[in-house]
Amino acid sequence: MTAHTQSGLPAQEALEAAVQRTADRYDAVIIGAGPAGLNAALVLGGARRRVLLLDGGPPRNVRAQAAHGVFTRDCTPPADLKRIGLEQLAAYDVTVCQEAARQVREFGEGFGVQLATGWVTARRVLFASGLQDLLPRVSGLRERWGRTVHHCPYCDGWPNREAALAVLGSHQEGHHLALSMRNWTDHLTLLTDGPDELTPEQRRDLQRLDITLETRPILRLSGEDTLTVHFRDGDALELEGIFLNPSQGQRSHLPAALGLELDDKSRVVVNEHGMTSLRGVWAAGDMTGAPQYVMSAAASGMVAAVSLNSTLIHEDVREYGAAFHESPDEEPGVGEA
Ligand SMILES: Cc1cc2nc3c(=O)[nH]c(=O)nc-3n(C[C@H](O)[C@H](O)[C@H](O)COP(=O)(O)OP(=O)(O)OC[C@H]3O[C@@H](n4cnc5c(N)ncnc54)[C@H](O)[C@@H]3O)c2cc1C
Repeated sequence: MTAHTQSGLPAQEALEAAVQRTADRYDAVIIGAGPAGLNAALVLGGARRRVLLLDGGPPRNVRAQAAHGVFTRDCTPPADLKRIGLEQLAAYDVTVCQEAARQVREFGEGFGVQLATGWVTARRVLFASGLQDLLPRVSGLRERWGRTVHHCPYCDGWPNREAALAVLGSHQEGHHLALSMRNWTDHLTLLTDGPDELTPEQRRDLQRLDITLETRPILRLSGEDTLTVHFRDGDALELEGIFLNPSQGQRSHLPAALGLELDDKSRVVVNEHGMTSLRGVWAAGDMTGAPQYVMSAAASGMVAAVSLNSTLIHEDVREYGAAFHESPDEEPGVGEA
């Protein structure tokens, strides 16, 4: 079946038409305006590139009241981080478009990116589309995510220091997180929500560190500023917060649809420059398996942007018949022979 666009043209024709319109041609399209994408846009803008930054929605920490561990901006609400990041792009040739990329295709020497309004083309693509957290199905948990339910002690450990906390997890990851959380509080329970898969040695670890093991199945969570765990047997436990280690998946289907190599945790495989397995495509931030923090995502956005730009510099120089002694464009993508 031929894919049609809003204009009624088949996708291929619409893409070819976009190539004719220089207004829709960019040096780079960045997909995602979280910390990784915003910082990549800043760096590419400063490198005098014509950039389209696609802002398809809020960043992953949108539910958090404040971001911690962020150099010079500790305790800043995530929405403010994003607002400042967007404001600082105004000095550069960066177009910010509040649209999600719908499709990415290799096209000619570059790429076509489909938006709701049509196709744009770019010499390079940088994915910064993030991950999504796949939360356990405990009634009342999703609503409290980022408020009294957290995943990362480096993000939310300090505001919860010495609080009555629980870790939710029934196997090795729960044991690991519970042992780590003892750094932040002495009042800790490991909730397994039913039968656990802990080894005898792991149970002994919990005893040694004075962590209560609670295996009763959970009915639901309630509470606003504090948290009540209601067990199925009618009993309840009062807490100030829960930490857990959720499963995760790519936020966007586009990296897989474009055929980028993913690892066994479905992260996009990149080299140390953020290059993916497909030449001309970079990825940065949480989606790559980089440490999941604002600063790491922003830093990897910078690294990817510098690498991407250096390949454009090499390409541009070659147009004049000149060449650097070694061209990063000649480097194979990750996993390429
Ligand atoms: C509850 C919570 C609290 C956290 N607290 C902290 C903290 O205190 N300190 C800290 O350092 N880290 C914290 N983190 C981690 C931090 O949020 C992430 O590491 C960081 O946001 C990753 O940035 P990113 O740019 O890689 O991805 P994201 O922030 O996930 O941004 C990706 C962006 O891409 C967009 N997108 C996806 N698909 C498309 C598409 N097709 N087209 C266009 N756009 C698209 C998304 O809408 C999103 O805006 C927290 C995370 C959570 C879940």
